[in-house]
Amino acid sequence: MRNYKSFTLRNWKELPQLQKLSDYEKKAIEVVGTVLPFKTNNYVVEELIDWNNIPDDPIFTLTFPRAEMLRQEHYKEVEKLLDSNAPQEEIKETVKNIRWELNPHPAGQKYNVPKIDGIELTGVQHKYRETVLFFPSQGQTCHAYCTFCFRWPQFVGMNELKFAMKETELLIRYLKEHTEVTDLLFTGGDPLIMKTKILASYIDQILDADIENLQTIRIGTKAIGYWPYRFIDDPDADDLIRLFEKIISKGKNLAIMAHFNHPVELSTPAAEEAIRRIRATGAQIRTQSPLLRHINDSSEVWAEMWRKQVNLNCIPYYMFVARDTGAQEFFGVPLVEAWNIYRNAYKNVSGVCRTVRGPSMSATPGKVQILGVSEVNGEKTIVLRFLQGRDPDWVARPFFAKYDEKAIWLDQLKPAFGGDKFFFEDELESIFHEHIYDDESENFE
Ligand SMILES: *Cc1c(COP(=O)(O)O)cnc(C)c1O
Ligand code: SF4
Repeated sequence: MRNYKSFTLRNWKELPQLQKLSDYEKKAIEVVGTVLPFKTNNYVVEELIDWNNIPDDPIFTLTFPRAEMLRQEHYKEVEKLLDSNAPQEEIKETVKNIRWELNPHPAGQKYNVPKIDGIELTGVQHKYRETVLFFPSQGQTCHAYCTFCFRWPQFVGMNELKFAMKETELLIRYLKEHTEVTDLLFTGGDPLIMKTKILASYIDQILDADIENLQTIRIGTKAIGYWPYRFIDDPDADDLIRLFEKIISKGKNLAIMAHFNHPVELSTPAAEEAIRRIRATGAQIRTQSPLLRHINDSSEVWAEMWRKQVNLNCIPYYMFVARDTGAQEFFGVPLVEAWNIYRNAYKNVSGVCRTVRGPSMSATPGKVQILGVSEVNGEKTIVLRFLQGRDPDWVARPFFAKYDEKAIWLDQLKPAFGGDKFFFEDELESIFHEHIYDDESENFE
């Protein structure tokens, strides 16, 4: 059994591998780590990072802060305070202000909280008709944090968005009343950070409630990539495997939504064994990742990742565009370039890998896929479509934006052919008017 040891801003200097870092790189960990949360563990440090390839190693960049992840003016500001041993209060205040500049609440997340009898289900989000997200309160952290993660506000205690709910009862009522919901997705953080006993207390209640419309239970996790022992020989790993078997024996489909950013995460014997054990329960593993500069911004890396996943019996599912939050300037890839990477990877793998869809932006109106670049009547356009929409009727209708090589997010795109609005904008605005009206009585600070 491997004992779990985490490393954060508090104890990272204990790492023996740090001799491989320059003074500048170490300083950056301190400065950037004061603003953006970071956390890694002994498996990631010992098995995934190539310490002879610092700072370019993708897993190092995924788990350790680097200077370029902050805007230069922010970096200098924090560095100065740390160098001059400024009072904690002053550092805190500065850090708070910088965090607010990093768009901590992207994609209108606070508008997706459903209600039952006027009570907000604060641990629940329901944005797309068929799928409800559930954020169990004990699952709101991770084995290791990804430096690009859009959930960073909840890891640094910016809690308004820490959707968490202790009670499953309301959730069950909601699912029974909303018969259009077929999927329940446990998410976080990482729900598999919870001890099996706690996760089972949620899942058992849900299974016992016999919710007929509920067909699929999904669990979003990074554990196969960052702590595969969760499924192998952690003290409650066998219990977790039995819980998976139980879900399936109750006639529900179990989908593990696994998060992999780089093929190296699939290369260790522990990761392979974890996948083998999960698959042996009858669960499916679907994989997803954002496309990230410095990590996986090449078609070769994606093609290799999809092939490896399929060889290990996983189903490639989504390629995402990096969110417009946190260290987005460091990790972001323009949409047109993202599509080229997707296309070049996609055309070089066999059909069994082509279950993957992307590149997709999880934006306010929905999940929007970049279908490609096309010339229509002499005008160069970007062709898009919804994979998921706030209004399900938006899904699968192609629409056109003006060609823009620099755009990195939906809100930077303009309609093609001289239009002044995309087809969904009026409706989106009316949806938001209702919600903004709902929220007027609330104090978000
Ligand atoms: C991605 C996502 C889902 C799940 O969508 P699928 O396309 O069914 O995987 C559900 N809710 C939200 C808010 C999402 O972003
Ligand atoms: S595993 Fe997911 S939720 Fe956790 S830090 Fe990484 S991206 Fe964020």
